Amino acid sequence: MKLVTRRQWGARSPRSQASYLASTRGVKVHYTGSYVDPRLKDDHTRCAALARQIQNGHMDGNGWNDVGYSFLVCPHRYVFEGRGLHRLPAANGPGLNTGHYAVLGMVGNKGLITPTDDMLHGIRDAIEYVRQKGGAGKEVKGHRDGYSTDCPGAKLYAWVKDGAPRPKGGAEPEKPPAEPDETLKILLNMGIRNAVTVAPGQRVSVPWEAEYADPSNVHGSGPSWTPKTKDWALVTLGTVVDGQGKGEKLKLVLSEYEKGGSVRVKDHFGEDKIGNGTRTEYTLSGLMWLSSERSYRVDLVNQGSRPVTVAKAQLRVAR
Ligand SMILES: [Zn+2]
Ligand SMILES: [Zn+2]
Repeated sequence: MKLVTRRQWGARSPRSQASYLASTRGVKVHYTGSYVDPRLKDDHTRCAALARQIQNGHMDGNGWNDVGYSFLVCPHRYVFEGRGLHRLPAANGPGLNTGHYAVLGMVGNKGLITPTDDMLHGIRDAIEYVRQKGGAGKEVKGHRDGYSTDCPGAKLYAWVKDGAPRPKGGAEPEKPPAEPDETLKILLNMGIRNAVTVAPGQRVSVPWEAEYADPSNVHGSGPSWTPKTKDWALVTLGTVVDGQGKGEKLKLVLSEYEKGGSVRVKDHFGEDKIGNGTRTEYTLSGLMWLSSERSYRVDLVNQGSRPVTVAKAQLRVAR
């Protein structure tokens, strides 16, 4: 966990030490409930200043002894120590502070309102930290659970209701997934290193710059690969795409090309997705007949009016 201690973020000393808290039932998640400058998202140097501003508001505005939160999490996955482990928070509402640690995500109801994947990872890091070191139980709730407030806002609350999962396309280090089944042998496992942009109307082949496994050398460089034999194989394809417009169409497809060439013969399995205004994720898996007389690519066809960006992609072939 990327912990920022009180000393590191320049916290004021509390007027008096908060009460000792042996354990809690879990964590309540909060947001600022006010405007958060959107520039925070791309500028981590602003995050400590926001933590100090929140502390000043709680001490000078609310008249509290200290910042009310146990921890404050910025869009860059840093976890700022508030009251910290085993100290009674003040942010959950009267009578509700002994039940839960209070963890803030640095988003508000205006300006920066959408938590980044890194922020969700950071809140998750803080939850696991208070469970391991702070005697916290399994509950993850929102401030609004049991108290009349809109906190932690629609987006964080939806995430909390979802079980506060770690984001799939987030900041975890890129690593090949484990083998799905010990009886299957991985023939090919590839990913991308850089995001790929697909303009409106374009068809772009995923470049597969990252090779995690290619024991029989069926992939050289570039988007295409050619099997050594004719046989069935289990093909698994995962892709995360950003920027798809609401109601717009995007097609991801595993396509068959002339051997070593760029002439497309036909499309195999794939999926059309209609944009819902958030990130688009594909997870496709199927048994497929692969021929050594053909080459194969994964193509993304942008049928919308805005450019889209492939943030993550992974292709695995096993038999
Ligand atoms: Zn709150
Ligand atoms: Zn930050």
